[in-house]
Amino acid sequence: MRTVERIAELRAEIARARATGKRIGFVPTMGFLHDGHLSLVDEAKRRAQLVVMSIFVNPLQFAPTEDLSRYPRDAAGDAAKSSARGVDILFTPGVDEMYPRERRVEVVPRALHSRWEGTVRPGHFAGVLTVVTKLLNIVQPDVTIFGQKDIQQAMLVRAMVEDLDFASEIVVAPTTREADGLAMSSRNSYLEPAERVSATVLSRALFAMRDAFRRGERRVESLISTGRSVLDGERGVVIDYLTVADPATLEPVEDASEDSIAMVAARIGKTRLIDNVVLGR
Ligand code: AMP
Repeated sequence: MRTVERIAELRAEIARARATGKRIGFVPTMGFLHDGHLSLVDEAKRRAQLVVMSIFVNPLQFAPTEDLSRYPRDAAGDAAKSSARGVDILFTPGVDEMYPRERRVEVVPRALHSRWEGTVRPGHFAGVLTVVTKLLNIVQPDVTIFGQKDIQQAMLVRAMVEDLDFASEIVVAPTTREADGLAMSSRNSYLEPAERVSATVLSRALFAMRDAFRRGERRVESLISTGRSVLDGERGVVIDYLTVADPATLEPVEDASEDSIAMVAARIGKTRLIDNVVLGR
């Protein structure tokens, strides 16, 4: 694996690979890698011959009140894990490399920005789309892999790629979970031991909703009260939202169907976690 910090050097490396006819797969991340990230590498390797992973904690997508300064980092561990999983090029630019001057342009979503994560985190998705635009322009991948765990992000990136004619295919890969159901996340490292136990309440609530759906419940009001009662059973959990949404628009629905998505965001102590499941899957 080659580790590259400079944009120009990365472009040169990728141009060499492309000249030999290789398809380029790309996995953008903020690092502190876990098995969820590495499952995206597996997906990229199935679809491309050269896999590029980026690790960049993007300041633009954090509000001043959020966890940018304490976001977990482990450069050595990340290099070892990505190399062992078969990443070919690890791109680890510094903030000055990505944002060398005051920005004059940003990419702002029109759809979806005022719902769910967009409401709770104003400006977050403009930060995401701006950095993803830069990364896609730098890497120019044939295929880029995102995780289902951040479903709204994946949908917005797909919308951007369609609306603005980016060349990359966008693939959304399933959520990887701990044995007890908790969706893997770099932010899980913030959790105190007791909070880590409580944190399973997100997936327990979603699984309870999915079980109710499988038993035939289609009324979203009822599904949400099922999920809410699981969440309410755990002390110290503050719900940001719990909803059942249409997979194409993420608008709330009244009657659930196989492809409806149950989504939750909640805070446990100082840690904010999100998760979702497809009800019929
Ligand atoms: P992050 O480093 O949190 O920005 O995540 C980088 C990519 O990994 C995003 O596409 C996430 O959706 C994806 N990802 C994060 N956690 C998981 C998980 N548990 N399973 C699958 N993909 C994930």
